[in-house]
Amino acid sequence: HAKNEGANRYLFFNDSMNKLAVKRLQVENLIRHGLKEDYFTVYYQPKMDIVTGQLVGMEALVRFITPKKGLISPAAFIPVAEETGQILEIGEVVLQKTCEDVKRWIDMGLFHGRVAVNLSAKQFMLPFLCEQIDDILRRSELPSYHLELEITEGTVMQSPTLAIDTMKKLRARGIHLAMDDFGTGYSSLAYLKQFPLNTLKIDKAFIDDMNTARGRNMVDTIVTIAHNLNLTVVAEGVEHAEQLQQLKQLRCEIIQGYFYSKALSAQEFGLFLKQQKQQKPKLAAVPA
Ligand code: C2E
Ligand code: MG
Ligand code: MG
Ligand code: MG
Repeated sequence: HAKNEGANRYLFFNDSMNKLAVKRLQVENLIRHGLKEDYFTVYYQPKMDIVTGQLVGMEALVRFITPKKGLISPAAFIPVAEETGQILEIGEVVLQKTCEDVKRWIDMGLFHGRVAVNLSAKQFMLPFLCEQIDDILRRSELPSYHLELEITEGTVMQSPTLAIDTMKKLRARGIHLAMDDFGTGYSSLAYLKQFPLNTLKIDKAFIDDMNTARGRNMVDTIVTIAHNLNLTVVAEGVEHAEQLQQLKQLRCEIIQGYFYSKALSAQEFGLFLKQQKQQKPKLAAVPA
C-alpha cells in the first residue's frame, strides 16, 4: 500500500508540477531537515572604517552546511525559505547564534562595535518582532546597542507606515537600522527621509560600475543623498584598491568586501579579532 502511494506521488510530480516546483520542494525538505539537525550557522564579514582601516563592525551572514551537500548558498535557499515561511525560524536561529558569538567576543575584550543582522520581509513584519528580539538579547545577555538590523527597500515599502512604526520601536531600544542593497529596489525619496535609519548600504552592483565615469557619478549621487539624510554610508562588495580610493574621495565611511575579507566562520573571526588587536590596520597603509 505504501509503495502504491509513493508511485502515485511520483506521477503527481511528473504530471502536475514543473521542475522548478519539485526543486523548491526538495529545498524546503532540506531546510526542514537542516533546522532539525542544526546545520544553520553564522559567518561574519568585517566592516572597516575607510579612513583608519579599523574594524567597526561586521555583518552576520547565514550559512547552511550539510554533511552530504556541503555549503548551500543563501541565493539557493533564502528565496524558498521566504516563500515557505521557514525564514522565520532560520532568522531566529541566526539572531540567537549571532548574539551569543558577539557576547563572547565582547566579554573577551575583543570587540566593542555593532553586528549587523539581515532581516527578511516576513521577519520584519512579525507583530511580535520587538519582543522576540528583546527575548534573544536578554537570553544572550547582549546589550541592544551592539545590534544593527539590515532591511531592504522592498521590505519597508510593502507597508511604509507600519515599517516606520516598527523602526521607531527598534530605535527606541538602541538598535541601529541599515537600508541594505540600496538602489536595487524601489523606494521613494519622500519615504527615505521618513525612515529612522542610521546607515545606507550601497549595493555591490554600483561599486562594480565604478570603473566608468557614469558609475562613479552614480555612487557620488547616492553618497550625497545619504549624507543629506545624515546617514552613514557602507559600500558593499569592495574588491579592488582602486574602488577603495574612489570611495574614500567620495567620503564614503565604511567598506565591506573581499578586498578586506570574505565572511569568516565564528572561529576564524575570533582569530581575526585577536590579530586586529595586535597588528597595525591594513588599510591605513593605503595612501589617500
Ligand atoms: P547581503 O545582505 O547584501 O550580503 C552581502 C552579500 O555579498 C553576502 O553574500 C556576501 O558574502 C557578499 N559579498 C560581500 N563582499 C563581497 C565581495 O567583495 N564580492 C562578492 N562577489 N560578494 C561579496 P551571501 O552571504 O551569499 O548572502 C547573500 C544574501 O543572502 C545577502 O545579501 C542577504 O540578502 C541574504 N542573507 C544572508 N544571510 C541572511 C540572513 O541571516 N537572513 C536573511 N534574511 N537573509 C540573509
Ligand atoms: Mg545585508
Ligand atoms: Mg547587501
Ligand atoms: Mg547585496
